[in-house]
Amino acid sequence: MAVTLDTDLSRVLGAKTARAMADSLDLRTVRDLLRHYPRRYARRGEMTRLDDLQVGDRVTVLAQVRRVTTRKMRNRPGSLTEVTVGDGAGEMQLVFFNRKHGQLREGAWGLFAGTVGEYRRTKQFAHPDFHLISGDDDEDWARALIPIYPASKDVSSWVIQKSVKLLLDAAGGFGFVDDPLPEDLRARHGLLSLPAALLDVHRPTSQADVERAGDRLKWDEAITLQLVLAARRRAASLEPGTARPRRPGGLLDAVDAALPFSLTEGQREVGEELAAELDSDRPMHRLLQGEVGSGKTVVALRAMAQVVDAGGQAALLAPTEVLAAQHARSIAGMLGPLARAGELDGDPAGTKVVLLTGSLKAAARRTARAAVADGSAGIVVGTHALLQEGVDFADLGLVVVDEQHRFGVEQRDALRAKGNRPPHVLVMTATPIPRTVAMTVYGDLETSVLRQLPGGRGGVASSVVPVSDKPAWLGRAWERLREEVAAGRQAYVVCPRIGDDDTGSTETDAPEDADGAPDEDDAGGNGDRRPPLAVLDVAEGLHEGPLAGLRIDVLHGRLTPEDKESRMRAFAAGETQVLVATTVVEVGVDVPNATVMVVMDADRFGVSQLHQLRGRVARGRHRGLCLLVTEARETTATGQRLAAVAGTSDGFELARLDLETRREGDVLGAVQSGRRSTVKLLSLLEDEELIAAARAEATALLATDRGLADHPGLAAEVAALATDERATYLEKA
Ligand code: ADP
Ligand code: MG
Repeated sequence: MAVTLDTDLSRVLGAKTARAMADSLDLRTVRDLLRHYPRRYARRGEMTRLDDLQVGDRVTVLAQVRRVTTRKMRNRPGSLTEVTVGDGAGEMQLVFFNRKHGQLREGAWGLFAGTVGEYRRTKQFAHPDFHLISGDDDEDWARALIPIYPASKDVSSWVIQKSVKLLLDAAGGFGFVDDPLPEDLRARHGLLSLPAALLDVHRPTSQADVERAGDRLKWDEAITLQLVLAARRRAASLEPGTARPRRPGGLLDAVDAALPFSLTEGQREVGEELAAELDSDRPMHRLLQGEVGSGKTVVALRAMAQVVDAGGQAALLAPTEVLAAQHARSIAGMLGPLARAGELDGDPAGTKVVLLTGSLKAAARRTARAAVADGSAGIVVGTHALLQEGVDFADLGLVVVDEQHRFGVEQRDALRAKGNRPPHVLVMTATPIPRTVAMTVYGDLETSVLRQLPGGRGGVASSVVPVSDKPAWLGRAWERLREEVAAGRQAYVVCPRIGDDDTGSTETDAPEDADGAPDEDDAGGNGDRRPPLAVLDVAEGLHEGPLAGLRIDVLHGRLTPEDKESRMRAFAAGETQVLVATTVVEVGVDVPNATVMVVMDADRFGVSQLHQLRGRVARGRHRGLCLLVTEARETTATGQRLAAVAGTSDGFELARLDLETRREGDVLGAVQSGRRSTVKLLSLLEDEELIAAARAEATALLATDRGLADHPGLAAEVAALATDERATYLEKA
């Protein structure tokens, strides 16, 4: 029978099996089935630790029958059969009601699949599916490694295993599978052919088989992903943009003259890089990574000034209103009269700095939009409101996206589309990104890094305050805060929730971080945890208790923007000594005199979020102090995660730690929006070299105008991945 990768499974398998596979696992074609890899391999004598199974897991285990007992049920008619199976490390009960299980004899080996339950403290499967190994298909089961596939209630692991076998027999091997990877590429990286790798992954005879197959199959994933990104980069590089050359005697020179400090070496280098790229009619697409406090804003401002000097407009997109307002304020401050062209005290050689946020009153919004449209606003700072219809630029030359991790590719593109021609784009992120993530999620951007912090910074000392283990420490924390305030400094107290409602919802001012999710590994699960501490409650408690007499204020997303703005101003001016806030202070807020941050319920925040937060108290010449208050025990995974955050201020190391607690799919979700996850084997943590190599190969493959014309197999793989609008980038290439 002639089989191809696109052959429908119903032509190879029974109609019923094929339908079940399609319905429950979304496996429809031969390609789908072959790309459905085993999750792991079971082998006799070295099996799943039954003890490690969690209630609620749906699993397949390989085990031996140890005891079988049948008894009449007391309260209802019928009988109950209990079968005890074990694998050496543990035992579990299988429970069957009113069914005959004659095959389940002591000593028999089998695969047992079901959802793990618990009855009287013993793990059990009720009505499991099972497949005894000493059956009619001995040859298959005698294999050293038994593949355990991601399965469903209707399609068990062994049905998938048999189906692969059927396919192999029907097609006479995997010879029909064309290898999408060019032979020279395979040779360069020592990779198996695809047919050989598929055979080894589905029917391995040794662990070495599995590993070699994995190396090869990961390449398929990496190269398709990188081809999509390389095509995107190439398409972008072919778009005609507008060069914005540097002009002396304008805003940029004024900014440089007004800076109260000299640029760090890193800022200077990145500045040169940006200046050169802006001076090209090939639009810049650059990611600027820099530690919290490394001084990205001034780098961006200088780039914006260059564009304004060349006659264009620059837009700065910020994730929150607080941050947008702060940027607008500090940019206007730095430019002085140059930011007030058209006003009485303004410099006619300057420009206007306009703030555009969702909360502007209709009249103010009209004025702002008019200045954007007629070009008199050279610098436009705003939130998502910038992306809206009706915001039209006279000549948008540069888009700067601050704290990119809160914006998606689509939003970046929406703003880009507001230029007459593609504008230059600078994306800034304060969360350092592991190299693999930079190469995938941000794979369509070139990268610059600011490693250095401006000199004269005191740094931050962090410690965990584990109130369950060491209750007295909390009192000491408030004393430390009072000492700092007595010395003229200021403090933040951060809480996960606003309060004054009983819903337990968390802060909603800013879009939630993908990395903000705390994990749930504390004993007792999540259900019976108390609600997170709230700003309003904590502020009141502090006011009446440990911080009585200090000038305390609150800041959170439910305040009106004017209110937020004025409270932030009062804090910046030193009128407020202690600001109790939600994560609205997380990104970018800059008050150098603030030196203490106490994070309540620190375990409710993600690693990157904590790192961001503590960046708020490392901004002046005084040494900062960050206290992570938690009820999590020091010995739990959560306690240790917090200890790791306290133990290092290296953002790249923390980004790695953060990545470990997330799943690849979550991270890569931003890149691939096809109908199912294409990344099954590739690991962002472990496969850095492979991803880098695949990136280089992908770039080389797309270096000419022929695109993938000579590699139809690869083109097909990519097409299968890029089912959404991003596929258009490939067609353009
Ligand atoms: P981030 O990179 O986190 O956005 P910012 O741009 O907000 O950091 O800069 C943090 C602080 O450092 C600001 O107060 C800024 O004025 C200051 N700063 C920036 N560059 C320098 C420098 N070269 N020397 C001294 N201070 C600087
Ligand atoms: Mg910033």
